[in-house]
Amino acid sequence: MKKKLADSYGREVNYLRISVTEQCNLSCFYCRTDPASCSPGPEELLLSATEIFVIGQAAVELGMTRIRLTGGEPLLRPDILEIARNLSGIAGLQDLSLTTNGILLEETAFELARAGIKRVNISLDSLDEANFAQITCGGKLANVLKGIDRALLAGLVPLKINVVLLKGINDSEIQKFAALTMDRELDVRFIEYMPTCGQKGKWESFFLSLDSIIKEAGKIAPLIAVEGEHGGGPASYYRLEGAVGKIGLISPLSRHFCDRCNRLRVTADGRIKPCLFSSEEIDLRDCLKDREKIKDRFREALRIKPDPGKVACSALDRVGQFKGNRSMTRIGG
Ligand code: SAM
Repeated sequence: MKKKLADSYGREVNYLRISVTEQCNLSCFYCRTDPASCSPGPEELLLSATEIFVIGQAAVELGMTRIRLTGGEPLLRPDILEIARNLSGIAGLQDLSLTTNGILLEETAFELARAGIKRVNISLDSLDEANFAQITCGGKLANVLKGIDRALLAGLVPLKINVVLLKGINDSEIQKFAALTMDRELDVRFIEYMPTCGQKGKWESFFLSLDSIIKEAGKIAPLIAVEGEHGGGPASYYRLEGAVGKIGLISPLSRHFCDRCNRLRVTADGRIKPCLFSSEEIDLRDCLKDREKIKDRFREALRIKPDPGKVACSALDRVGQFKGNRSMTRIGG
């Protein structure tokens, strides 16, 4: 059996997130960033489908077993099906998934499933049409809802809906989101807002810790903690009594999970990011044709993944440790 891939602190790293574009078809007020240095770079500098394939091969040969495609908005990439087909054919890859805002999912869900995508995460921050349009700067909620229906029909399950909790913006919708888990095969995961590049001011205005979720969701039905690995992800899970789906909490600030961090990221412009909170990057662009060199760079990224023992435990101190130099659309959140 292949040896498990681990970093310098013994954490098993089996999960690679590859960003395929920096462009997005929504402009969420909390995600878009102001300084020009955080804005998307030229499309011609992005990894090609072939380069993404070679990176995927190198990662799986090293011992990674799961890949997620993200962005920007990955469904904007004209060759997304080719990228998925290539990666899904890699022997040893156990899970290929995709994160999307769902706007283009209605027309692509079945093709994605045929191309080898096993499941999707959908980012959705409001179930109210006007609020959704305001958060996303003009997005149409109906498109996302149709995308969710279609993804469930296409068997892209378990389907996860990711909600960034924002004070005064969507915290009044916690129960509505939680109720989605009652009768459909989907999980709703609430995520704490992080202070990514250029967003310190926004973070201070809109950050809310996830403590309120349990209280609010518990008003619908008794809430039961669900134990288990859940694919090794960062969420802790609960289930409303009698519900089909689960409610997940992802608290990178108030209850960090760095000691369980199992991932590396590759940006759309070909850099490995060992940690979301750090500005350190390892450039792959001079070795994109050479799988052995790519593996060496991944090993280097594992070597420099930060010490989980030095991570601050309060949200405010954790924010002080944030050194990221890219917006989430440029990292592949
Ligand atoms: N376009 C795809 C989507 O919407 O899922 C993938 C990229 S998007 C940047 C990935 C996720 O990052 C979304 O769920 C978005 O809400 C989340 N996100 C963006 N900025 C964030 C922040 N500062 N803190 C926490 N999550 C953030």
